[in-house]
Amino acid sequence: MAACKECKKFFPQEDQPAKGDCVRRQMDPRQAFYTAKPVSADNNAASCSEFQKK
Ligand code: SF4
Repeated sequence: MAACKECKKFFPQEDQPAKGDCVRRQMDPRQAFYTAKPVSADNNAASCSEFQKK
């Protein structure tokens, strides 16, 4: 089973590696930007359409 920690978009917190941020590159017609949301390292990535293996 894939987990967020195996995903390229997962960035662990230095002090708490079991937690981290899911950082995604977004595009709108004029610019690219990033969004970050908190996720757990062991979060099940099976249902995530944006999973990318590291
Ligand atoms: S939520 Fe999806 S895109 Fe974000 S880190 Fe987990 S698997 Fe990757």
